[in-house]
Amino acid sequence: MHQRILTLLIVATIALTPAAVRAQARTADPAKRGVALSEFPRIVRLGDGVYGYEEIRQPGFTTVSLFVVGRNGVLVADGQGSPAATRTMLEKIRTVTPLPVRWYVVGSDHGDHTAGNSELPKDIRYIVHPASRAQLQRDSAAAAASSGRSGQPPRVVVVPPVAMTGDRESIDLGGITVEVLFLGRGHTAGDLMVHVPRDRVLFMSEAYLNRVFPAMRSAFPTEWVATVDRALAMDVTRYVPGHGFIEEPAVSREELVAFRQALVSVVDEVKRLHARGLSPEDAGKAANWGAVAEWFLASQQAPIAIRRVYDEIEGRIR
Ligand SMILES: [Zn+2]
Repeated sequence: MHQRILTLLIVATIALTPAAVRAQARTADPAKRGVALSEFPRIVRLGDGVYGYEEIRQPGFTTVSLFVVGRNGVLVADGQGSPAATRTMLEKIRTVTPLPVRWYVVGSDHGDHTAGNSELPKDIRYIVHPASRAQLQRDSAAAAASSGRSGQPPRVVVVPPVAMTGDRESIDLGGITVEVLFLGRGHTAGDLMVHVPRDRVLFMSEAYLNRVFPAMRSAFPTEWVATVDRALAMDVTRYVPGHGFIEEPAVSREELVAFRQALVSVVDEVKRLHARGLSPEDAGKAANWGAVAEWFLASQQAPIAIRRVYDEIEGRIR
């Protein structure tokens, strides 16, 4: 066939293929995914009254929140990383519903999800794991101490008044019930997830980082794999990550399996390097991360993962 006609045919075929059929690039990088930064923040509908919220944080990947709208109000799981970013999120939620935000789930206690919580309504009910509440107390004390040294006004760390007492709590939002679950330690000591049984959606917060190198600063590397396995065993069709893109249902499970494999391969590689007697620094130079080396934040997170897995092997994590 004439080269030019062939080219035209290929171009026409691509143009006529619906976006859903075209393979979506498997990456946390908006540029590689073909999504302009100007599209953020954006709301992704996951069910009737169930929404994901994708916002960009530096260095250019998404932080994901969840919100669920019932007749009695709105539940938010995870905020954003600054008062301004959380204020924007609350404004976006108001474009969906006039109902007040009444519940907030601390999926991750890290600042990129909690540093804007001073913008939340004062009468909101927090659902937080005891370990995350204790961490927020320590962060609050540290912020006050650094303000005392610098003379700057303190960074506001909101500490929820009470922690949950078990591993599971049902919340009736009016017409829709969500379950807050602790499936074990993973990214932090107190990771909480939000299950919406009616829509078979599970928001996993930072226990699931979609195509982001496993972030282990305060993680429990081996336990994390078991926590992901408990999520995979649930009757869920759509897994929602705390960073990276929200995927269509089937891909969301494939990507969670890929993330589990990334955790396993990072832990195995660090164990191999540790067994060779290498220092963490030399392990960093000798490491072979395989395909995970291409994942977002790999160069930043790899040295942190090495130190944390060394801590686990040498019994420094309780
Ligand atoms: Zn985070």
